[in-house]
Amino acid sequence: MIPIHENLANKVAVITGGSGVLCSAMAKELARQKVKVVILGLTADKVNEVTEEIIASGGTALPIVANVLDKQSLIESKKKILEQFGQIDFLINGAGGNHPDAITDKEYFTSNIEGTSFFDLQEEGFSNVFDLNFIGTFLPCKVFGDALLKSDMPSIINISSMSAYTPLTKVPAYSAAKASINNFTSWLAVHFAETGLRVNAIAPGFFITQQNKDLLVDANGEYTARSKKIIEATPMKKFGEPEHLLGTLLYLLAPSYSSFVTGTTIPVDGGFNAYSGV
Ligand code: NAD
Repeated sequence: MIPIHENLANKVAVITGGSGVLCSAMAKELARQKVKVVILGLTADKVNEVTEEIIASGGTALPIVANVLDKQSLIESKKKILEQFGQIDFLINGAGGNHPDAITDKEYFTSNIEGTSFFDLQEEGFSNVFDLNFIGTFLPCKVFGDALLKSDMPSIINISSMSAYTPLTKVPAYSAAKASINNFTSWLAVHFAETGLRVNAIAPGFFITQQNKDLLVDANGEYTARSKKIIEATPMKKFGEPEHLLGTLLYLLAPSYSSFVTGTTIPVDGGFNAYSGV
């Protein structure tokens, strides 16, 4: 069990995608640390479910249904959050994902290729993935940023991916969009460095969640060939569990650990990013 960090108590964290698999685990841990959490997501049912679970465990949570691509909905969200809690200290940009129109069927192009090839990829699919992952991080930073700057320990955590470092096969848009997250994290960290606002990112390795399960698990519930390659390329030889991200999250949020850390992206990946395959 992770120790309780007293200096996080009563801080307010806005977690976009807070109803998703990885970020709901973050929200629950922050609530256990007595952080007041805002679960911001697209789907009311999922947002309410996570919120109710946190409140039932003794935490403080506020459900917000909003779209990270809709500036007005974020502005209205900020108003509600400030009315309820009076402050915003942390922003975790967890909303993100992929789109079928931006994924090739095969890893390598051949002259007799079948299925969706590079030439079948749809511009709309690419735009969708870029918007969700990049603009969906930029806009919350822009809208919530002025409130964060009033905090005595403001922090932004963006969510990157292994695909940001070396692009993963089949997912060109997602890879490029997540590379932009690492780059933007550095830019924003530098830009706000003198204000006390720290900006860092976590790059999760491979976790089986809603957004990638079709690529990783087949109809019979067995690992796909892609899953087997991932395990082979992960020196710790397993998929991650959402709980693996929590120590790094707390490290990055708690100034007692990381007050001089900004602009970094930390892989939490069982060694995937360190392994050349040989
Ligand atoms: P998930 O699909 O379980 O969660 C994503 C959440 O984002 C969902 O709750 C969804 O409702 C929300 N969302 C989607 N579009 C939104 C929008 N426009 N506005 C507001 N909310 C929106 O996915 P996850 O696997 O928990 O992923 C969380 C983050 O981690 C994503 O950024 C993802 O790219 C990243 N990531 C995941 C993995 C993995 O292996 N699962 C690996 C690396 C990075």
